[in-house]
Amino acid sequence: MIIDTHAHTTDERFNVDREVVIQNAFNLDVKIIFEIACETSHWNKVLELSKRDGIFASLGIHPSNASKVIHKDFDRLETLVQDKKCIAIGEIGLDYHYDSSIKNINFQKELFIRQVNIANKYNKPIIIHCRDAYNDMICVLKECEFALKGVVHCFSGNLKQAKIFIDAGFLLGIGGVLTYDESDDLRQIVSKTDMSNLLCETDCPYLAPQKYRGQRNEPSYIFETLREIARIKKMSFSEVVQTATQNALKLFSIY
Ligand SMILES: [Zn+2]
Repeated sequence: MIIDTHAHTTDERFNVDREVVIQNAFNLDVKIIFEIACETSHWNKVLELSKRDGIFASLGIHPSNASKVIHKDFDRLETLVQDKKCIAIGEIGLDYHYDSSIKNINFQKELFIRQVNIANKYNKPIIIHCRDAYNDMICVLKECEFALKGVVHCFSGNLKQAKIFIDAGFLLGIGGVLTYDESDDLRQIVSKTDMSNLLCETDCPYLAPQKYRGQRNEPSYIFETLREIARIKKMSFSEVVQTATQNALKLFSIY
């Protein structure tokens, strides 16, 4: 059994064939999909989808939506995360990629910490989005008083930063980027990181693996990434699948 630990199949790009895409993944042994909500207006849609067998929800407010947040969003998040199919808070984090984001760094940090507090209160792991902000993210996490658990989704930091997150108890989320020609640094990190610290994900519809690059990504394309991990780590495909699945079930407390 394979788990896609990070998908956005509620995205409008799946409106025409969502059922087919999900069924196709299930048929190919991708038996569990974690559906991630990035903004308040997606929470209900994602929770609705997670009522189905094999689909779980993660709810959060992405840093790029920091300026739209109002106080009652946090109360609503606290209520919704208690749903039995909600397994995590995320994706939440810091994103300094765009020049405009520099203006709201403090907003982003505050938004992240408030959501981390909710995750801790309800004992949920966090799904971190971090882009061009790894050192700040490490500083912010160090300021948190409690032990945290979670995954750094679509990890794009360096080896030193990877070690810091792993030592702090986080897993690294690895997706289609691993298969890109220019991703030698990430392949190096994967080769030097124990399989017990890795999760596999698609981030669909974004970041389709090399074979489908430029197209809409889908949960079933996770095979490309799993095969690449097996190749890099000189492990069998089934061993990679088994470990990645166990890691996900354990982190997100799915039994
Ligand atoms: Zn995502």
